[in-house]
Amino acid sequence: FDDRDGVIWYDGQMVDWRDAKLHVLSHALHYASCVFEGERVYGGKVFKLTEHSERLIASGKELGFDVPFTAEELDRATLETVQANNIVDGYVRPVAWRGSEMMGVAAQKTKIHVAIACWPWPSYFSPEARLAGIRLMLSDWRRPDPRTAPVKSKAAGLYMICTLSKHKAENLGFDDALLLDWRGQVAEATGANVFFVMNGEIHTPTPDCFLDGITRRTVIELAKKRGYTVVERVIMPEEMANAQECFLTGTAAEVTPVRQIGDYTFTPGDVCKALIEDYDALVGRTHDLAAAARNSAA
Ligand code: PMP
Repeated sequence: FDDRDGVIWYDGQMVDWRDAKLHVLSHALHYASCVFEGERVYGGKVFKLTEHSERLIASGKELGFDVPFTAEELDRATLETVQANNIVDGYVRPVAWRGSEMMGVAAQKTKIHVAIACWPWPSYFSPEARLAGIRLMLSDWRRPDPRTAPVKSKAAGLYMICTLSKHKAENLGFDDALLLDWRGQVAEATGANVFFVMNGEIHTPTPDCFLDGITRRTVIELAKKRGYTVVERVIMPEEMANAQECFLTGTAAEVTPVRQIGDYTFTPGDVCKALIEDYDALVGRTHDLAAAARNSAA
């Protein structure tokens, strides 16, 4: 991914994509002192931009460092980067990390760096194709106790269990993995929150040890507007037997129907369809696949 044309915003400057480098003795590489964001661009606009910029800053605080830019400055830098790369439909990856001035667990005086990269990511899948649903395995790894790690932070270190879980799932022919938390309760997928439709109501785990996703909150609002009852509660894995539909939410996942988690199966139906439609309408996606293809070629 490092050998491409384009520019990356790096500590306040636009640098050539191939020159956006850091030193191998960066604290972030050795000790995971790094936080990041993932954002989507729809029709040249970054969806929920300020919420993401604010979450980057909040994640840094959880890890004990101040991101040296305000949310406003990050918003502006993000839009400049999106424009400089001519992104119409794409993905944005802001990242903030401790630099290489000190080596060791203690690194109070390291510089905090920030970079923002973006690239085209058009959506080709029609709602009908998405409604086929994806397959998840149950991960062996669990989301940690909030006393073990800063679980509310979008911290790079927490993604170690996500990558381990996702790689195992892919190697066994699944699309993704569902993680339980340290108590054995349903938590989330490796990069998305999870919802279940149980007898016409929408149930989702209380986010007390994992990310309360921006998409999660958006979809809860959309569901309530549609008149659905949304219940946030403890969900035990056995209860998945009582769910008719299941879907994931996330910036990248958007609303992704699920047809299997381990031994449990679901049939994506009216609720998944309604929320896909509402989410697409909110982000301003049209289902003009020819236009999506033209955008990606541009
Ligand atoms: N959980 C994890 C582990 C994630 O990586 C993400 C994606 N950021 C989410 C949930 C969903 O968050 P959001 O809707 O804010 O993208």
